Amino acid sequence: MSDNTPVQGFATMDGALHAEAVPLETIAAAVGTPVYVYARSLIEYQYDHLARTLPDGALIAFAVKANPNLGVIAALARKGAGADVVSGGEMLRALKAGVPPGCIVYSGVGKTATELELALRHGIAQINVESEPELHMLSAVATRMGVAAPVALRVNPDVVAGTHTKISTGRKEDKFGIPSARALAAAELARALPGLRVRGLAVHIGSQLTSLEPFEQSFAALGELMREMRGAGHVIETMDLGGGLGVLYEPGQAAPPMVEAYGAMVERVTQGWNARLIFEPGRYLVAEAGVLLTTVILVKKGVDRRFVVVDAAMNDLLRPSMYGAFHDIRAVCPTGETFIADVVGPACESGDTFARERRMDAVRAGDRVAIMTAGAYGASFASTYNSRPLVPEAMASGDRWQVVARRVPVADMIALESVPDWS
Ligand SMILES: *Cc1c(COP(=O)(O)O)cnc(C)c1O
Repeated sequence: MSDNTPVQGFATMDGALHAEAVPLETIAAAVGTPVYVYARSLIEYQYDHLARTLPDGALIAFAVKANPNLGVIAALARKGAGADVVSGGEMLRALKAGVPPGCIVYSGVGKTATELELALRHGIAQINVESEPELHMLSAVATRMGVAAPVALRVNPDVVAGTHTKISTGRKEDKFGIPSARALAAAELARALPGLRVRGLAVHIGSQLTSLEPFEQSFAALGELMREMRGAGHVIETMDLGGGLGVLYEPGQAAPPMVEAYGAMVERVTQGWNARLIFEPGRYLVAEAGVLLTTVILVKKGVDRRFVVVDAAMNDLLRPSMYGAFHDIRAVCPTGETFIADVVGPACESGDTFARERRMDAVRAGDRVAIMTAGAYGASFASTYNSRPLVPEAMASGDRWQVVARRVPVADMIALESVPDWS
């Protein structure tokens, strides 16, 4: 990297970890901790990289649930990304961040009539329908509104994604999608119902996939189904291949599939499909572009363990306690010394643990620490457990930075509540 290459993401310069050209200490001192920090150029880089490797004309619809911050969605929208949303709230965010309605797809097993109406009112690109009862619901809403709802059938291909069971979505025991064996019948049902226009098929088998094989298996199965449907007279214009690309969380672990290999596989499998391809990446676009910045409150000794207690907790980053997920943990200003410790938060749960018996930078009370690769499913999973304020977010781009979600004061949270006046 030459001296004038701008830093994308997070790197140590002059002994201190930076978000692009901004010292993390600057943000910690100004905003307080814990705080998520995003590196916008890395998000843009990831998008460009993926866009270059996918077939021309493909729509990259960012899975908003990975990181629904307006600043993040807007950065991607400016690049030409669409949005994959799973609730009315996410749809409103995507629209507000500047995603054109024609680039929004809506997935989810339990869309309400109100949400379906919102989607039709805004004229989004397609609704990925996940069951026969949902076809009936959508038909009723569309008929009442006097419109034709653009439908893609989300198919459950019964493929083992080889990922954590909580983020597997394409096995027959998972709640997602219409079983492939019933997909043709579902299309027939959609054709018979008023107010529906089937235009595509969709599949999404899970998240943090580290092998191409399950992707290829499910894409090939979807292609087969597409031919069957066309044979039965259905017009299939869009093929939505979902998200799921994994990222590297643990230094030294086997690298997930390279985007180039994914792109080449897509090119090969979708040869001659003659349909617009849609992709729904979430994690891949934003995971590495975010850290959770926290401060060491104290270091305590157990009977035979050292505990680094930080001011971030499981309510700010749930992945370690929910999935046993690994996140690299680094001192913002490393001294070069290391020790072995458990890194824990202040919440009153033993599961509030970010790392166990981890060889890490030796840190002391007051030091800043960055929990790496936290840009996806980090802030979006945050809660206020233990009456901790919702974690704020900041974004850096070059030498600029800005708060993109402010910390909600605990007093404001409490102000939403009341004691019944009859008590
Ligand atoms: C969560 C989700 C995605 C994104 O998955 P990633 O692993 O973050 O890429 C895409 N599509 C659907 C339908 C989803 O539910």
